[in-house]
Amino acid sequence: MQLPNSFKEPVYVTRPALPDPKEVYAKIDEIWSTQWLTNIGQQHRAFESKLQAYLRAPNLSLFCNGTMALQLACQAFRLSGEVITTPFTFAATSHVLYWNNLKPVFCDIDPHTFNIDTSRLESLITPHTTAILPVHVFGYPCDTDTIQSIADRYGVRVIYDAAHCFGVEVDGQPIGNFGDIAMFSFHATKIFHTIEGGALTYKDSVLKERLELSRNFGFMGEEQIVVPGINGKMNEIQAAIGLLMLDIIKAESARRKKLTLLYRERLQDIPGIEFRQDLPHVKHNYYNFVVTIDKTEFGNSRNQLYDKLKKFNIFTRKYFYPLCSQLQCYRNLPSAAPENLPVAEHISQNVLSLPLFGGLQEDDIHRICDTIQYIQEF
Ligand SMILES: *Cc1c(COP(=O)(O)O)cnc(C)c1O
Repeated sequence: MQLPNSFKEPVYVTRPALPDPKEVYAKIDEIWSTQWLTNIGQQHRAFESKLQAYLRAPNLSLFCNGTMALQLACQAFRLSGEVITTPFTFAATSHVLYWNNLKPVFCDIDPHTFNIDTSRLESLITPHTTAILPVHVFGYPCDTDTIQSIADRYGVRVIYDAAHCFGVEVDGQPIGNFGDIAMFSFHATKIFHTIEGGALTYKDSVLKERLELSRNFGFMGEEQIVVPGINGKMNEIQAAIGLLMLDIIKAESARRKKLTLLYRERLQDIPGIEFRQDLPHVKHNYYNFVVTIDKTEFGNSRNQLYDKLKKFNIFTRKYFYPLCSQLQCYRNLPSAAPENLPVAEHISQNVLSLPLFGGLQEDDIHRICDTIQYIQEF
């Protein structure tokens, strides 16, 4: 095989989908004419109701980012003590527990879904457990039935980190409708974004007032502050971007699906590169494309492939490495010991996210796959 041409410009793991700038300027004109920039204005109200309909959520609230949303979700349930979570996630999942004075208890993951291994869940429950915080990682749904039945048996809450899951459905059910509450992140690196932003969807409408008071310092009216809240509000520009993104998200996801199918077709014959197929009961969003490297078969470790692709101007990312349980702030927790988390340790050492975003061309995917093949053969 010939040496593939390097990309002239760096190809990053993701690029944000962007609405037409003319529409953005029109929105800014609209916001300027009202002179109302934040504090739950017209754009916020319009986005909240359109998004609630789009996600088919019984209740929905918007926040300045996903981390803040998750933090306020934990507060809304007055959680205390221990929360069982996954180490194979972005740092924010564990940090949110830390900021709520909760102790993360790490549970190993399933080797196929990379989500919490429900067969190990029950053994981690103690009298101090008040919730389970699973992540539907990379948009692949957790075993929600088993998680719910364990939570019901022990009377603990289920809070889902659905940061990767915009638009995902399981058996026709929107993924945000599982558990007590689910968090979506609208960070620019996610498939649906508002530059920064986040939302919670939840079953119990009583939570709405509590969440929205704590999102705005605890203000009830002009003069009463009824809880020690924080500033978690989504501003008008964020909400306006969200409204415009709702018009293009389907096309973005369809484009990523097409590129994902091409990746799968091209990579299936390269030894030592493994990836996941679609699940029949799931409507996927094709947020990202993740492979695992079998070093013996591929002839290079994940780290070697990552380094070599860089020389061709292809910038992949090791999501998620290191594990949260390996971060300095959590590694001394008893549940963080590597021998308790063998699958998570293994996946984290071998996983790699390849570039995937709507702006990539089919040719780019071919060139990335040619390069991977070249690295395997030589
Ligand atoms: C992005 C992300 C978050 C944090 O969301 P922000 O909107 O960036 O605060 C939390 N959890 C996971 C799994 C994420 O990928």
